Amino acid sequence: MQAELDGTFDFCESCSQHNNCCVRMRHGKGQVASPPLLPHEAGLIASVSKIEISEFAEDTTPPGNGLAIRANGDRCYFYRDGKCAIYSARPLDCRIFPFDIREVDGGLFWIVYTDLCPTSFDFRRHFASAKHVLAKSNVSRADLIAFTKHGHVVMAPHSFRLLEEVVVPREASTQA
Ligand code: SF4
Ligand code: SF4
Repeated sequence: MQAELDGTFDFCESCSQHNNCCVRMRHGKGQVASPPLLPHEAGLIASVSKIEISEFAEDTTPPGNGLAIRANGDRCYFYRDGKCAIYSARPLDCRIFPFDIREVDGGLFWIVYTDLCPTSFDFRRHFASAKHVLAKSNVSRADLIAFTKHGHVVMAPHSFRLLEEVVVPREASTQA
């Protein structure tokens, strides 16, 4: 359970190409966008990896919404020897995948991709974990809107299920 609260989903263990969501960053069918970075994440990753931000990050696509991890060919910059080299510091986007957040009619909503994971899983069981990961992230609505902008052209063709409206962490803590 502790791993689930960190966004480590047990269904990934049965993924036929474990972590293949990290290695589809190429153009064409099945492509996924590289992970966008929330404002505090680039510095944390630089600190953990001892690599300059300019080495591993680039502007979002489209630009103007912060940074995203660079792709190295068809895979994430940090995918090394079959696994994530920064797993404990991986960004929110990686912790919640295959859940994601989309802007719909001005609101922020949770979605789950239904065509990307080569395994079946009970999304209802894991959704609580994804929401827990977001709640811990202390991000603002502006951060999340920028987060949703990156890679939307790449992700748009994928089928998904719309789940529920997002509770923005900073707004929730203000109300508490
Ligand atoms: S593609 Fe899906 S099942 Fe496979 S590692 Fe990624 S999130 Fe897990
Ligand atoms: S940061 Fe790690 S988990 Fe995220 S896409 Fe890159 S290799 Fe995969």
